[in-house]
Parts: sequence; structure tokens; C-alpha cells
Amino acid sequence: MEKNTVARVQEKMEKISAEERITAFREIESCFSKKQALKEAERCLQCINPACINGCPAQVNCKEFIKKILEENFQGALQTILEQNPLPCFTCRACNSEQQCEGNCILAKTGDSIAIRALERFVVENSELKNLNASTSKNNVAIIGSGPAGMAAAIELKKIGVKGKIFELQGNLGGLAINAIPGYRLPKKTAEEQIKWMQGQGIEMEKNFKIGEKKTLSEMLPDFDAVLIATGESQAKKLDANGKELEGIFYWNDFLEKYCHGNGKQGKGKKCVVVGGGDTAMDCARTALRMEYGVTIAYRKNLEFMPCRKKEYNEAIEEGIKFEYLLSPQEFLGNKKIEKIKFQKLEIKKEEFVPTGQTIEMDAELAILAIGQEFDETVFRASMLQGKPLKEGICSTELHGVFLAGDAINQQKTIVHAIQSAKNAVKEIQQFLKDKKQRNEKPEETGLNRHDVLLGA
Ligand SMILES: Cc1cc2nc3c(=O)[nH]c(=O)nc-3n(C[C@H](O)[C@H](O)[C@H](O)COP(=O)(O)OP(=O)(O)OC[C@H]3O[C@@H](n4cnc5c(N)ncnc54)[C@H](O)[C@@H]3O)c2cc1C
Repeated sequence: MEKNTVARVQEKMEKISAEERITAFREIESCFSKKQALKEAERCLQCINPACINGCPAQVNCKEFIKKILEENFQGALQTILEQNPLPCFTCRACNSEQQCEGNCILAKTGDSIAIRALERFVVENSELKNLNASTSKNNVAIIGSGPAGMAAAIELKKIGVKGKIFELQGNLGGLAINAIPGYRLPKKTAEEQIKWMQGQGIEMEKNFKIGEKKTLSEMLPDFDAVLIATGESQAKKLDANGKELEGIFYWNDFLEKYCHGNGKQGKGKKCVVVGGGDTAMDCARTALRMEYGVTIAYRKNLEFMPCRKKEYNEAIEEGIKFEYLLSPQEFLGNKKIEKIKFQKLEIKKEEFVPTGQTIEMDAELAILAIGQEFDETVFRASMLQGKPLKEGICSTELHGVFLAGDAINQQKTIVHAIQSAKNAVKEIQQFLKDKKQRNEKPEETGLNRHDVLLGA
């Protein structure tokens, strides 16, 4: 598990008690008051070489926005953040700041880093988003996927005067920020308000539009100057075990999509077992707990290896979730509906986790499998290089005019990394459009023929 470098920062964010929070999906953390924000901003050393900026994957100038808070110029502070991060409404709630800006703050060495994420939240809630420039360029870009990467790309394109239109497979917009991150950490209305603001800026969004089904990439390309694929990685890694078809067994994506903002308390008196040890497992477990299930997390290694954030683990423990280690699911038992999960017990031998030959059974009326995420390869034909970019570290693909951003290409699957890769993709698209203009390409020379060949259209 990650080292908690900034334990005292956690204490500064006011949280509702564990007893109260498990009764509903109400947001756990509350925003700093003006007095708290000014007091915290005053502690910033305004370092000559601020490590917090490099600690932020989007390179937000934390030093500068904190200075503006001290000057009580909250609107100016927001503008500083927006220069690098078009979606602070998400990052101020969901960033893993202990490992990023705050973890790099010079005061982290004393265990008392500046609470940068809490200050960002204060700024977001005490200022307002201003209108973006009107689109000036004739170029238009199709953005596939409305998650943080697609949203960030649409805003960044608009900043440079280019029109981006979002196409989303789902009936709602926002990607995992709305369909997976539970409301007690990231309220649904945060994404809804951001989307409303974007639509008010003239950014078009079309729902229920699956690329690959409604239209193929090659069918889209003649209508757009470039296409950005920001389809994420929201498929669940599957488990092949006997009984997997029983009712009451969910993969994390289906479960969270249905329940992450609360949807009934059907768990009273029932047991839920969540299989996994990452942040997604914690979110599933804490969501099920709020539905009144008695919840146990079963992880195949031991606590030391559990990949979730320490903050999430601590909060899960406070809320009453039980943990069982060294268990690997073998079979689901029940009659139509799941009743038990049979686990193989594991032990550590020469640093390997190996089966002991013994099994145990755990009661479960609900089983949630959170053992990993995958890119949806069916979105593209195999010729799309399975969604891989041309070279590591860039967003261009071997398809001329087609770019990738977000979880679909990122090693680190977080909102702030999705935002940064969208910024990178927009820079590459801008260069591509500039080159295209210079060459004054005719349609036959755009590579469209090459697309058609690659996509088998
Ligand atoms: C349970 C959970 C909790 C998380 N918690 C955090 C957190 O606290 N902090 C954090 O920073 N990150 C967190 N993450 C990660 C974060 O949500 C992702 O890194 C981020 O959403 C990635 O953004 P994206 O736009 O690349 O992809 P997504 O958010 O997955 O959005 C992709 C969008 O593309 C759409 N799409 C897919 N295929 C098609 C198609 N063929 N046609 C049209 N549209 C399509 C999808 O429906 C989706 O809306 C969490 C993830 C999960 C699963």
C-alpha cells in the first residue's frame, strides 16, 4: 500500500463521521471556510523552486494560485488553475494529491504539507467559470467519449478557437466521473453542472452514439478535420469460474454504474463480498455498505501488497468494512441466486502467493468482482492497433488525423492524467491542423484512403 506522506493534511479536511456517512451518499469532505483557506494559504512558503508544480501531472501553478488566495483574489486563483487544468471541479475532489502536489510540497517532509487540494476546492467553490472564446477556426474535431479526457479536450480545443463535438455511447455524459466514482466522493451534480456549462459554451454533445456501431471511424472522418478517441478503459476484467452466471454477481462497472449515486437500500440483513484490493474494490464495498449490506473485501495477497490508496482503506475500515486476505475466488455457489463464494486459500512461499490446497466458503447474497479494467477493443477494428498510439508518449496514431487521450492510452489511470493527455492531444491536433492548412490538402491526400484500408471500410 502507498506510504501516507502527508497524514496531517487528511485531518484538515473536515469529514462527516463514519456513522453518519454510511447512511447516505452525501459528500464526505466539506469545503474550507474563507478563514481556514486564508490560514492554510498563509503557511505556503512560496518556494523559489516549487516542487508542488512538478508533482502535479497537469503542472498547475499551485504556488501562484495559493498566493492569489492570500490576496483574496479567488477569481484570479481560478484563472491560474484553469490555465493548466480545465476540470478543477473534479480534481479538487478526486485527485490523489497526497502522492502528487501535496506529496511533493517541501512541508511534506515535516508531515504537514499544504492542503493544496482543499485550497483548490475552496477556489472552485468561491469563484465562477467565465465564458470561453467563441470558435474562430473553421476546423472541427470529433471527440469520442465524454469522460474527463473528452471533456478536457473539448475545452482546450475551444480555448484555441477550434470546435469539438463530443460523441458518447452512454445515455449520460461524464464517463467514469459520473458512472463509477461514488457520489460520496464526487457528487453527480459536479459533473452535471460542468457539462451544462460546457454546453452553454456551445460545445455540442451527442449521447447514445457508439462509434463502431452507429458509425465507423472511416464514416466519421470526412465530416471532421481530426478525430480524438477518448473512450477510456471501462471494461471489467472477467473471471472464469463455475457459477459465474448466478444472479447477484456483478462486475464493478455494472454495479457502480447502477448504484454509485445510491439506488435503494436493498442490502439490509444481507452479505456482500467484494473481490479485489484496489481503489475500485474500495468504492464498490463502500457503495454496498451504503445500501446496508454487511461487506467483506477478499483480497488475494496481504495488506502490504494491496494497491488501494491508504486514505480509501482507512475510511473503509472506519466505516466498518471487513478485510480477508490471501483468498482467491474459485467457485460461486447457489441455486439461481448466489449464496456463497468458495475461495482457495493462499500462502506466501519464497515471495510468491501459492495455493495451500485448502478452501473456505463465505456467505454472499451479492458478489462484486473488481479485479481490473480493460480497454474495449471492440470499439475499433483490429487494424486500429488495439488503440495503441504511434509511439509511446504521443497521442497521434498511425491513422492520419486520429488521436488518442485519457485512460485509453495512459499508464496512470486518473482524472488528472486524463486531463494532461487531453492537453497533449490538443497540442498535437493543433499542429496537425496547421500542417494540413499549410499543405492545403485535398481530401484524396488526407490519408482517408489509408483509413479505409486500415479500417476495412
Ligand atoms: C471506481 C473508480 C474510481 C475512480 N476514482 C478516481 C479518483 O478518485 N480519482 C481519480 O483521479 N481517478 C479515479 N478513477 C479513474 C478515473 O475515473 C479515470 O482515470 C478517468 O475517468 C479517465 O477518463 P477518460 O475520459 O479517459 O475515460 P472514461 O471516464 O472512461 O470515459 C470514456 C467515455 O467514452 C465512452 N465510450 C466508450 N466507448 C465508446 C464508443 N465506442 N463510442 C462512444 N463513446 C464511447 C464511455 O461510455 C465513457 O463515457 C476511478 C476509476 C474508477 C473505475
